[in-house]
Parts: sequence; C-alpha cells; structure tokens
Amino acid sequence: MNFIIIGNGIAALQAAENIRKNDSQSKIMMISREKYNTYFRVKLSHLLGQQFDLEKLYVKPQQWYEDNNIDVLLKRNVLSVDTDKKIVKLDDGSILEYDVLIVASGSHSFVPPVKGNNKKGVYAVRSLDDVEKLNDYINGKRKGIVVGGGLLGLEAAWSLRQAGYDMTVIEFFPRLLPKQSDEEGSMIIEKIIKDSGINLVLGAEVEEITGDPIDSVVLKNGNKVNADFVIFSAGVRPNLDVVSNTSIKVNKGILVDDFMKTNIDNIYAAGDVAEYNGKIYGLWTVALAQGKTAGLNAVGIKTVYKEVLPSSTLKITGVDVFSSGDIFDDGAVTYRYKNGDIYYKLFAKENKLIGAILIGDITNSTKVKKVIDSGLDLKELLTSSKDAKEILEKI
Ligand SMILES: Cc1cc2nc3c(=O)[nH]c(=O)nc-3n(C[C@H](O)[C@H](O)[C@H](O)COP(=O)(O)OP(=O)(O)OC[C@H]3O[C@@H](n4cnc5c(N)ncnc54)[C@H](O)[C@@H]3O)c2cc1C
Repeated sequence: MNFIIIGNGIAALQAAENIRKNDSQSKIMMISREKYNTYFRVKLSHLLGQQFDLEKLYVKPQQWYEDNNIDVLLKRNVLSVDTDKKIVKLDDGSILEYDVLIVASGSHSFVPPVKGNNKKGVYAVRSLDDVEKLNDYINGKRKGIVVGGGLLGLEAAWSLRQAGYDMTVIEFFPRLLPKQSDEEGSMIIEKIIKDSGINLVLGAEVEEITGDPIDSVVLKNGNKVNADFVIFSAGVRPNLDVVSNTSIKVNKGILVDDFMKTNIDNIYAAGDVAEYNGKIYGLWTVALAQGKTAGLNAVGIKTVYKEVLPSSTLKITGVDVFSSGDIFDDGAVTYRYKNGDIYYKLFAKENKLIGAILIGDITNSTKVKKVIDSGLDLKELLTSSKDAKEILEKI
C-alpha cells in the first residue's frame, strides 16, 4: 500500500505514526510546503522577539523518521489531487500515486481585508517561517500592534512586551478573550494585561494601515495608534485549496464522518482542515486525536472518533487562564468564586459539569477537564457545595 499524507502538522504526524504502528511494510509519505519537520506550533507565540533553539521545537527527532521508515518531502506544495487517477501533483511537476490519501493541510491565518494589510511590516503568525521573518523585521524597532485580543493575540503581545517592545492590542469586541471567558473573567484578565504595560484598545476596528514602511494604524473611529509593525491575530481558515476542483465534499472544512473519512472511500481528512459534526475547533488536541483516528482507519483498524471537547489555556506567566467545555449555555446552573485576581466559574447541567473558567489559579484544570469529558454524575457534590471553590476542592 501507498499512503500519502498532505501536511506535516500534528494531525499528519499522528496519522503517519498510527499507520506505521499497525503496518510495517507500506510506504508512508508526508508532504509539506514548510521547510521543517513537525514542530510544536503551539509554542510559536512565545518565540516572538526571542532567541530559540530549533531542536527543542521538534515533536520527533530526525532519527524517529528513519527508524520508522516514514518519508517526508519538505518545501513541496501539493497543487492538486485527482481522485479518479489517485494521484497528487506537486509544484515541481512531479506526480505521486496513492492508494490511501490523508488530507491534513491545516489552516492559515485570516487577515481581515483592511487597507494596507499587504505592506511590509504587517504579519500573521502561523509558521516558524513567519516567526523568523517577523523577528528579523522588528529587530531595532520599538512599537508593535496586535490586532485581536484572543488567546494567541495576547500571547504574542506578551512575548513581545517581555522582549522590550511597546505593545498595543486592538480588539473588536468590548472585552478580551470573548470566546474563553465571561465578562467578569475578562475584566480580571484586562487588569492584569494592562498592569504588564500592554496598551489595550477595546471595541475598536482597524480601518487602515498607513505609511511605507508602516508608521500607524487608523481606527474606524478616526483614532490613530503609532506602530512600527502590526500582527494580525484574527482567527484561521482551513487550507482547502488543495481539494478545490475535486469531488471531495467541503463545507467550511472537509466533511468527515465518525472515522475521519471523507465522502470518498480511500480519502481521509483530519485536524484544522476537517469539519466534524459541523465543527472545526482549530486546536492541537483535536488535530492530534483526529490524526490518530484517521491513521487507524486508513490502515484498516475501524476506530470511531471520540469527540475531544475544546479547552484552552493562556500560556502567559502570571495570567493563568483555563477554559473548557460549554461556558455559554444559558440553561446551565453556574457556581462562582472570586477572591482578588482568582476567579472560578463552573457550569453544570443535569448534575454534570459541562464547562469551566479558571483564572488566576489553574492547578485544578486537568482534574476539571477530566470530569467534564467523562460526564460524571456530581449530583451530591453540586447540591451540597456553596461555591465553585468548594466543588473544585472536592471533585
Ligand atoms: C501561534 C499559535 C499558537 C497556538 N496555540 C495553541 C494552543 O495553545 N492550544 C491549542 O490547542 N492549539 C493552539 N494552536 C492551534 C494548533 O497549533 C493547531 O490547531 C494545530 O497545529 C493544527 O494541526 P494540523 O496538523 O491540523 O495543521 P497544521 O499544523 O496547520 O499543519 C498543516 C501543514 O500542512 C501544510 N500544507 C497545507 N497545504 C499544503 C499543500 N497544499 N501542500 C503541502 N503542504 C501543505 C502546511 O504548510 C502545514 O505545515 C496554536 C496555533 C498557533 C499558530
């Protein structure tokens, strides 16, 4: 058998690893337009404005690929897929045949259609290459703007602030982390971020990036913020270009069933590019689990994907934020606790924990995630506890 995997992110790597564990003979090839073997993409924000050791970023050492006989074709773009002929065409003109194809092409940063967004000095951070280019450009510069006050935007601003840059975060919503926190939690995070010296402009929209090289960002309300560089952190979109003009069914992402299989029998999809059950989470844990499921099914081991509930952690020293599960269900019973900058909110339904926000102290995050994922019945605890702190201590 001949397995081809488009991409070499965590979904692709998991697929390759799980095929090989169950099939020592077949040919497995991962193809990526990046120039590096699979690395921890989740660490990229922390490399901004910093020196780093590339070796520590790799998920597997080079030897692993050799030991497992997994071929990796780097700096190669897959231009198209022909599902009838079972071939992929690459940008160097070569054509490769497959028996089973796994599309794990991930996603790219969404950059809003703002005037001046293609100027030198405007970036979005998705790859190690983006980090290297950005770090080169900002060397010797002083003022930066991050457009987007979500998890990644705040992490980027924080790293650059630590490296000595004057940073401003511009957020469209009137509060930070609107997807990961409720209003009360957002206020606490806002205070900590401001105290760190990062400027916040909330409820604002970027109209234009001016100057060449850029010198400022003009907002829709007419205000101007000076900047030597701008980073967009406004979400991601799946990399669907490779399956356009094929009969592979796509909605927002590539549609997959419980086995990560597309509508075509020998083609699977996983990770940021796959849409499962109407959802694309764009999360590492989800990509990992889907890649594994796709790999197992591709090699003939029928495995149903067990949905991974979304959870995220803000990885900034001193601003511990963890959010998991459903935190916006109006029908949920809520349990709250607040003491200074420590804030917990738990969401329960039918005697089960369905979501949690932990700010300031996330030591219980793993435990909470397990309880949410397991759907454990907590009737006694929920009825006898007075607040979220007590529940966290007792579960
Ligand atoms: C800065 C940053 C921080 C993050 N932090 C977190 C976090 O804290 N927690 C979390 O859960 N998630 C986080 N994420 C998201 C997480 O990294 C992704 O969900 C995950 O990496 C997706 O993996 P993937 O394998 O689906 O795709 P990707 O990692 O995007 O890999 C896809 C690969 O395919 C390649 N490719 C695409 N099209 C082609 C083609 N046509 N030909 C050849 N190659 C192609 C791409 O270049 C890429 O290398 C973060 C992401 C970023 C950018």
